[in-house]
Order: sequence, then structure tokens, then C-alpha cells
Amino acid sequence: PAANILILEVDQACKQFGGLLAVNAVQFNVHAGQILGLIGPNGAGKSTMFNLISGVLPLTGGAIRFYSDHGLQNIAGLPSRDIVQRGIARSFQHVRLLSAMSVLENVAIGAHLRNKGNEVVDVINSIIRRDRKIEASLLAEASSQLERVGLAHLMHEEAGSLALGQQRILEIARALCCDPILLLLDEPAAGLRYQEKQELAALLKKLRAEGMSILLVEHDMDFVMNLTDHLVVMEFGTKIAEGEPQMIQQHPAVLEAYLGG
Ligand code: ADP
Ligand code: MG
Repeated sequence: PAANILILEVDQACKQFGGLLAVNAVQFNVHAGQILGLIGPNGAGKSTMFNLISGVLPLTGGAIRFYSDHGLQNIAGLPSRDIVQRGIARSFQHVRLLSAMSVLENVAIGAHLRNKGNEVVDVINSIIRRDRKIEASLLAEASSQLERVGLAHLMHEEAGSLALGQQRILEIARALCCDPILLLLDEPAAGLRYQEKQELAALLKKLRAEGMSILLVEHDMDFVMNLTDHLVVMEFGTKIAEGEPQMIQQHPAVLEAYLGG
């Protein structure tokens, strides 16, 4: 997509769990080549919003429209594998557990996902069944994405031997194998050391410079401040503010939500 065009439109999205409105009529847009931060205190509904966009959870109201060659199309209700194939890739934190496999094999799972459009569990099973022989084309794709994120020198290490910051970057390489237009990252900086956060931020800026759009769900406001182009702030399921990071930092409702009121 051309720079700055609208690629994701979250339109009055709602998600109700029993009596709880975890996401309550939330509205925001993502434009091509932008890093948008979705921030807010714990329990605000950020991960639920992330799961609605990636098709892991169905909406209970509203629409989510995403870029296609024929304009924006409603993706709400599509299975997550269709959403991946339309160009929205997310990090799969639960797959980090393949610690005895190599970095390269772990990233190749992402290439496999794109080709077969399978659920992660099916992909892992098929890799195990085939005695861990992954097709050469998938390994080539994985290797080029490792190059892109700066982890190529570690491709033959066991994934479990990597530092946490490197594992998070591995997850991004895996998502990049799905050839996304929009990358969804849920708290990628959580638990990282200062230096690792700096490296992660540098990588996300590099991807943006290459034209990637990124939706970053974060609890840590400091991490998003110098990285994002636009911030959406949620609290108790609703959007309480949005705007440029510098402006958001001064916003009374945001200070109240973060500092406790
Ligand atoms: P955040 O990621 O901002 O910390 P979440 O989206 O995880 O917040 O959660 C928002 C609210 O929805 C919380 O009150 C949480 O307990 C609730 N919630 C999240 N997932 C479920 C679920 N599957 N079933 C019931 N309640 C849920
Ligand atoms: Mg969360």
C-alpha cells in the first residue's frame, strides 16, 4: 500500500465477556508506514483488542476493516488464518516454547504458516511428524528474515539459549515470514532490560522505514514515547484519549489512568 493510506479501521469494536464489556465501542485507524501504540493500564482491554484484530476472538459489535486491492474490507469474523493471509501477522508468544529447536527452524514456522494458512499447533505437529525436516524454501525465507532483523549469526543456536530480548526479535522474524502489511505486537518489551528495549525500538524503526505498519500494544508508556507516531489510550474497555505521543503524555485523563485516581 502507498504511504499514509488508511489500512486498518477499527469501527465501534465491542467485545463482551458475560457482563463485562472488555472492549466498548473502540474506534481508531492505522495508516501505512505508521507505528501506532495502543496503551493503557492492566485490564484496559488492549490484548482483547489485539485478539479481535487478529481473529482469535469474535467481535460482539462493530467492524474491523483492513486494506485489500479492492479497498477496505470487513475482516471481523474471518478465521485467523485468513487474516494472516490478508496481511496481518502477530507474534505468537506461546510458540516460544520450542526451545530445543534451532532459531532457524523456529522462524521457519512462520513461513510455513503463511504457505499453508494453518493454525500454529497444526504447523508444529506437521513439523514434528515429518521428523523436523522443513522444506528448503521455508528455511531460505526464514534465513532472509533473520538477516533482516539482525539475528542471522544465531540461526543455528537452540532457541532456548537466546536472551529474552533476542527471543522477542526471533518472534518478530517469524511474524515477518507471513509477509505482513501490518505487524501486531503485544507487549514486546515486557521484561526486557534497558539495552534490549533500545535494540527492539531500533528494529521497529528500521521496519517502519521499510514501509511496515506496526500496531504495538504496550503497558509501558516510556517505551512507546520515542517510537510511535500516534497513541491510542484505553482504560476499562474504552478509548480515553488519542494523539501524538508528546501530547498524550500531558493529557489529564491519561495521567489520571496511569498515576491512579
Ligand atoms: P489488557 O491487555 O489491557 O491488560 P485484557 O484485554 O487482557 O487487558 O483484559 C480486559 C478485561 O477483559 C479484563 O478485565 C480481563 O479480566 C477480561 N478478559 C480478558 N479475556 C477474557 C476472557 N477470555 N474471558 C473473560 N474475561 C476476559
Ligand atoms: Mg494484555
